[in-house]
Amino acid sequence: MYKFELTNIESIKMKKLIVIPVLYFLLAMSAFAQEINPVFADFDKFFNDETMRIDYFHIGNSTEELITLDQVYKYGIWAGSRKYLIDDLNLGRYCAKIYDAATNQLIFSKGFDSYFGEYKTSTEGLGGIKRTFQESVLIPYPKNKIIFSIERRDEKQNLFEFFRKEIDPADVMIIRDEVKNKQVKVYDAESNGDPHDRVDIVILGEGYTVDEKSKFEKDLKHFSDVFFSQEPYKSYADKFNIHGVYKPSEDSGIDEPRAGIFKNTVLSCTFNSMGSERYVLTEDNKAVRDLAANVPYDAIYIMINHSRYGGGGIYNLFCTFTTDNQFKDYLFLHEFGHSFSGLADEYYTSDVQYNDFYPVKLEPLEPNITALLDPANLKWKKYLAPGIEIPTQWNKAAFDSMDYKWQAERRTMNNKIAELKKNKSDIELIQTAENEYAKKDKEHSQLVDSYLKKNKYYGKVGAFEGAGYVATGMFRPMLDCIMFSKGSKPYCTVCTAHIAKVIEHYTE
Ligand SMILES: [Zn+2]
Repeated sequence: MYKFELTNIESIKMKKLIVIPVLYFLLAMSAFAQEINPVFADFDKFFNDETMRIDYFHIGNSTEELITLDQVYKYGIWAGSRKYLIDDLNLGRYCAKIYDAATNQLIFSKGFDSYFGEYKTSTEGLGGIKRTFQESVLIPYPKNKIIFSIERRDEKQNLFEFFRKEIDPADVMIIRDEVKNKQVKVYDAESNGDPHDRVDIVILGEGYTVDEKSKFEKDLKHFSDVFFSQEPYKSYADKFNIHGVYKPSEDSGIDEPRAGIFKNTVLSCTFNSMGSERYVLTEDNKAVRDLAANVPYDAIYIMINHSRYGGGGIYNLFCTFTTDNQFKDYLFLHEFGHSFSGLADEYYTSDVQYNDFYPVKLEPLEPNITALLDPANLKWKKYLAPGIEIPTQWNKAAFDSMDYKWQAERRTMNNKIAELKKNKSDIELIQTAENEYAKKDKEHSQLVDSYLKKNKYYGKVGAFEGAGYVATGMFRPMLDCIMFSKGSKPYCTVCTAHIAKVIEHYTE
């Protein structure tokens, strides 16, 4: 329908070209002006300074997808930019688009990834098993009727629409509950001004009991400090607000299905998401959104009160991290790289449950990995070290044999710990096994660091093979990056520049 109308507009313009050339010229100029500045739409013309949350169900498997609308909510102020309403980052496997229903003008868009998007690439999803996930899109509250549309990527990464529905902002069925919950406490960890031109981060507490409120406060302070100690967040510190939201959980910690441990917590987070022992997500999107709605927010952190290593991050959805292990600061920064900026994992030796997540014959959308199909037009070519060879040779074979050996050992140790927990073994026995694992994990991480540092290309931007869970045919910008290996280290040059660009989209 949309394409048909565009064709009509084109034909009207054609007639004007014949009848009144001057008028056509003016029309063309205004169209050109819109064309060169497509990211800006007129906020006050189309929106009120409030938030509309559109909840829907995303159903299907790797070959079939279906959306059904769930509920629509109205909240307080709009936390996002009033300038960058159209998303020009071209990231995420999905894109929500909002059109003014009367004119079909695109007035808002946002790219994102989702739990469903990951499920599609799992063995179950590929095997045809259908599942349902609950998702939300947040938009500024429209003044008039809108068309809510969801697009997904085809096999060539082009977006195409597969769901559209008209929404009337005056509909009496839109839920206008005031967000209030006596158990919830909101903290201002960092306040730097008007939410409209700041990145508003909300850190939600998960698995903290009534007695662990002060632990939440301590953790909130620690991780806020970690955030502002890392570039580029450090240089943009005054562009961020950080809120903490605490709601007590019945139990401390979260589910560990492999160990037979199940907890009653506010956001129902769990280890073993997508079948990966260290991957922590929640499928309870409504609980996350309801809790986050206590503050204006652009980005969600779920801070998990747990000592085990684990986390996860999905672009423009949320990220999770655990608070009490030796790599907690790394987890906190690495996972936010995924959820806030859409960065890819640069590592390739660890186990993941995806199948063909980044096909090597297709250039990935993410700014920090490449299939190097067109080396002359490498997407980070402006950052390349002068004269560096592409692809850049880096003694990969020796690294691989060292790292794959550790990955196998790691798997065995983790299975042993899960087994001990499942059998309700002696707590000392479990702790000894966990301590041994932590020690070896740290040792390996230090080994990786020193191995990479010895290379003559360390600290230089090139194209290093091995990235995005793929050992060959996928490349990363630098030998090391916090998106590549664990530990206290910076984002690489390419990741840092991209994050800065995303920050500017929220704050300009
Ligand atoms: Zn990087």
